[in-house]
Amino acid sequence: MTTRLRHLLAAALCAATFTGSAFAVDWNGPQEPFALYGSTYYVGTAGISAVLITSTAGHILIDGATPQAPAQIAAHIRQLGFKVDDIRYILASHEHLDHAGGIAALQKMSGATVLASPAALEVLRSGLPDKGDPQFSALDPMPPVANLRAVRDGEVVTLGPLAVTARFTPGHTKGGTSWTWRAIEGGKTVDIVYADSLNAVAADGARFDGNPGYPTAKADLERSMARIAALKCDVLVSAHPEFSGLWERKARQPTMGNAAFIDGNACRAYVATARVRLAKRLDTDAQTAPVK
Ligand SMILES: [Zn+2]
Repeated sequence: MTTRLRHLLAAALCAATFTGSAFAVDWNGPQEPFALYGSTYYVGTAGISAVLITSTAGHILIDGATPQAPAQIAAHIRQLGFKVDDIRYILASHEHLDHAGGIAALQKMSGATVLASPAALEVLRSGLPDKGDPQFSALDPMPPVANLRAVRDGEVVTLGPLAVTARFTPGHTKGGTSWTWRAIEGGKTVDIVYADSLNAVAADGARFDGNPGYPTAKADLERSMARIAALKCDVLVSAHPEFSGLWERKARQPTMGNAAFIDGNACRAYVATARVRLAKRLDTDAQTAPVK
């Protein structure tokens, strides 16, 4: 299988939409960077989110998108008037190529410390997919990440005035992590959530629920869904931007300003969609033989 085809297949697996529209999403498609709220900016591609939280004490970057994305992400950061050198931390959502494949290069460019759930560390350090991942047979290796450190669930990563909290949300992968912080603009404070993927996905012929490589996947995912739904959540950015209606909200930015991104129901809606997807996946699992 060609790399491109594998990427498309992995995109479909990662995104697992009902309509198959994930095939139309170009992970590396061009995207102008833009302000989200306060000192937080979208610096990702058209298909994969990356968010920069800025301060005079340095910046925090969440995710690095694909191995092809770092030059684009770095250009976005410079275009906004910031320096890649000033990134102190890179936070990972989950240990798959489409979100973490660009972290190695961005870490090298910036010298930043990369923070992730302990369960994601081995994949990030080695660049090799986890054999216990229900998507294993469809996953590609990625560049190994240096200068890694584990965070604890609930740990607050601080940098000058910035405080970003790690919320472990496993299920899609074992190391899945969502990140939350507050942003201030014009005297108004909002809670921002960078939500990890909540998609129940398995490779062809593999089960999601009852997969011997990840027996707690369903229970983990259900707990993570409840957790995301309960978060204070004014502005949601999901790891795949189209899954949280980011582009529909951005279309309103020219008339509404950054208030366009505020939607107090966004996290609950994101979880509701993921719950429907899980139910469909469980139907599929019921027709899939247990993996020997
Ligand atoms: Zn994924």
